[in-house]
Amino acid sequence: MTANEIETLAAGVRNAERRAVARAISLVESSRPSDAQRAEALLSALYGSARSARRVAVSGPPGVGKSTLIDVLGVYALHAGHRVAVLAIDPTSRVSGGSVLGDRTRMTELSRSPAAFVRSSPSGVAGGGISPRSHEVLCVLEAAGYDLIFVETVGVGQAELAAVDLVDVLLLVLLAGAGDDIQGIKRGILEHADVVAFNKCEGDNAAATEAARAQLAAVLSQLRAGAPAVFGVSALQQLGISQLFAGVVARTDELQASGELSARRTQRRKAWFLRRLEEAVLARFSQSDEARQRLAQLTTQVERGELLPNAAVRQLLNE
Ligand code: GDP
Repeated sequence: MTANEIETLAAGVRNAERRAVARAISLVESSRPSDAQRAEALLSALYGSARSARRVAVSGPPGVGKSTLIDVLGVYALHAGHRVAVLAIDPTSRVSGGSVLGDRTRMTELSRSPAAFVRSSPSGVAGGGISPRSHEVLCVLEAAGYDLIFVETVGVGQAELAAVDLVDVLLLVLLAGAGDDIQGIKRGILEHADVVAFNKCEGDNAAATEAARAQLAAVLSQLRAGAPAVFGVSALQQLGISQLFAGVVARTDELQASGELSARRTQRRKAWFLRRLEEAVLARFSQSDEARQRLAQLTTQVERGELLPNAAVRQLLNE
């Protein structure tokens, strides 16, 4: 790909041409060393012009209804005039949760809309339930002018925490009465949640969901100032969706007014930098067979407790 072709691709992204956006994402996600330079050239061309979107992570245990909820929230947002993009985790890489049928019908409404862009990325080996190139993919989507971007994370615990570095706000999706194991998950992540939604609140679940919602809201308001609002919704029957959407928007506005949003975005760029730095340093030590062997040797010594990790790092950097 020549410099001209990169510029053409960048222009296509800026014009929100779907094929250009898809190609650009494939390029920045590519792990081929030969693509790295082109990916950087493309991102450099896009970076300055990228407008900031509202980025919303949607997290929660598998099967809680995240994709269904993103689908209805996304369609709602489209009707409200937003340009919506979704960065989801490739369902084929999901190990649990979600019926096969549920997976097959993921975000169908949104995918069908020409004004929305839904992208599934493999969660990859990086772990944390997000794509290893999420920062770059989001940069492309922002440059394409999507002003509301949902990032769906899979799994619990580390996944949400990794997602926190990618987004403005975190929407945590839970189920009422799902048991103590979920309460355990909640504790860590609740500190980061900006908005909480109890899903599947329809029918027989309505009373239990309302009780759980009120209880959590009460607990949270005791725990911290600016506690997240807690909603009851049914993604399936589209109950409470406008309220939840308004809650997410209100939270973002609040963060913007207090300066917290800008602080989060600063932190996000730093996290991106540190991630790439870490990756580049590690890549350097796997360039030659000799370097790989040396790294493996030192790793073994560290594992056995024979060598102080700090000393191993210094030795590597000095060599
Ligand atoms: P995810 O794994 O969190 O993304 O969950 P999915 O969106 O794939 O949904 C898991 C299952 O729950 C699917 O079978 C959905 O149809 C179902 N589901 C999603 N939202 C609701 C809801 O509001 N009520 C009910 N009863 N089922 C729902």
